[in-house]
Amino acid sequence: KQDVEQMAFKTETKKLLDIVAKSLYTDKEVFLRELLSNASDAIEKQRFLNSQKDNNDDDDFKIQVECNTNKRQIIISDNGVGFTRDQLINDLGTIARSGSQQFVKEVGKGSADNIIGQFGVGFYSSFIVGDSVQVISKSEKESQAHMWQSDGNGEFEISTVGDCGFKRGTRIIIHLRPECQEFSKAEDVKKIIQKYSNFINFPISVNGERFNLVQAIWTRSKFSVTEEEYVKFWEYISNQKMKYFAKLHYEVDVPLNIKSLLYIPAAHAEKMGFSQEQMAVSLYCKKVLIKANCQELLPNWLRFVKGVVDCEDLPLNISRENYQDSSLIQKLKQVVTKRVLKFLDEEANKNPAEYNKWFQDFQFFIKEGLAMDVDYQEQLFKLCRFNVDYSKDLVSLEDYVSKMKPGQQKIYYALLPNRESADSSPFIEPFKGTGIPIIYTFINIDEMIYQTVGSYKGFQFVNVEGDFNEISQDIKKFKKDTKTETKSDTQSKMDSDEITPFCLWVKNELQPIVTKVVVSERLTNSPAIVQSQMSSAMRQMVMMMEQNNV
Ligand code: ADP
Ligand code: MG
Repeated sequence: KQDVEQMAFKTETKKLLDIVAKSLYTDKEVFLRELLSNASDAIEKQRFLNSQKDNNDDDDFKIQVECNTNKRQIIISDNGVGFTRDQLINDLGTIARSGSQQFVKEVGKGSADNIIGQFGVGFYSSFIVGDSVQVISKSEKESQAHMWQSDGNGEFEISTVGDCGFKRGTRIIIHLRPECQEFSKAEDVKKIIQKYSNFINFPISVNGERFNLVQAIWTRSKFSVTEEEYVKFWEYISNQKMKYFAKLHYEVDVPLNIKSLLYIPAAHAEKMGFSQEQMAVSLYCKKVLIKANCQELLPNWLRFVKGVVDCEDLPLNISRENYQDSSLIQKLKQVVTKRVLKFLDEEANKNPAEYNKWFQDFQFFIKEGLAMDVDYQEQLFKLCRFNVDYSKDLVSLEDYVSKMKPGQQKIYYALLPNRESADSSPFIEPFKGTGIPIIYTFINIDEMIYQTVGSYKGFQFVNVEGDFNEISQDIKKFKKDTKTETKSDTQSKMDSDEITPFCLWVKNELQPIVTKVVVSERLTNSPAIVQSQMSSAMRQMVMMMEQNNV
């Protein structure tokens, strides 16, 4: 160490360091993410310079981490551009000055898309875990290597190093605080790197062992990614060998700069009722993890979606942990949610048979969304598929509407245990011969959905078990042109003076179960039906509750 010079930080560093250490970073471990991002930036810059010089040997770029438990040290080295003496003084001596941002400005954005740094504070996170930090660096612009050293208390020292042991690059040595000893253990450090920096462009090794082998394929153009790579990435993020149902790989720059790769699984854990799916979409900024399994990125009812959202526009306070209330995250959530719903709709139109099969397994999520989130009602409804009397396949509501009789004002649904029971349902009987399409509903919660949503395109949802007289009235006109009328003509009818005594007699016999007995022309084959204020779904629920003594 020669020509030692003492200097003071340019801004009120002590105060700022406290802010960086205590407020900006809530997790100590993120210092590693920051230093690895810086190392990656330094290499990216060198790669750019090489390309300018037509020097295409890629220099065996690499980032090395060494953990030394005995010395309580962690060392991060890269063979990127390195610092000149002035850069050490200016870039590390001035908080909130980003040499990387400067670099991007100089070379133009398009040429430096992979540069991560922009805020000029990341480096100082090393003082969260270190009580002293040394930066030894050698730039190709100078013949000498230099060392920057500080304990983060307002002053730093700069000196010349005779032989640093490498021809170009940077070596950062952190002397860890006693309470931060864990960061000198290779096993712990590997886990942190895997968590935050697994997708850094350049090979990272810890004590000689290389491991960030998964590529950030979401940042590539979808035409350059092979199906095999998609499958590999899916297996990596989902821990599943079973193939996914569909994938959405897209890139937009308005209203936000987003690169995203999302997978729609083919099966889910909630099916068996064992467990809740956990949100598995992670938020990245330029390949660096901001938040794993980010709850705020999608509504809870889309918790089956798995993948990555990479957004370049995250401001400092967001990319550094504290993002919950941010309006930007709200915006991001909206954009991604809409895109996922649109994508599912596209899939449904492209591969109806496969989509219908998928829908049968995932319908509860969609219906949960319908019940919970008025904002997305229209899109979610488009994704729903229904059993109907006129087709063995599931159909969309759009299809139902196209099959409605001219003049039909309502959408009729029947709650049934299964398709076969439709034939013997006295509630469906009056509809026979009318040509009115009926939705068959085999799942009780669906009724709640119809009630929550109320109507579709102005057509009200009506349970065929609903108001007796109203339904008879409504469907009467559709019966006119059918044979049922002649049939009822030939049936023996009751004389009007017999009606009242008959009804009274029935009511009396069934007391106290029934409150009202009326005669109607609604039925053709069944002699009578029992009608309840409660729908059959509600009745079943009440019965279940009674059985369980709730
Ligand atoms: P940011 O990365 O947001 O610019 P940092 O505080 O992390 O801010 O780093 C400050 C500056 O120091 C960077 O902009 C870069 O110019 C320089 N720098 C940091 N780490 C390295 C490194 N390993 N090699 C070369 N330059 C570096
Ligand atoms: Mg940085």
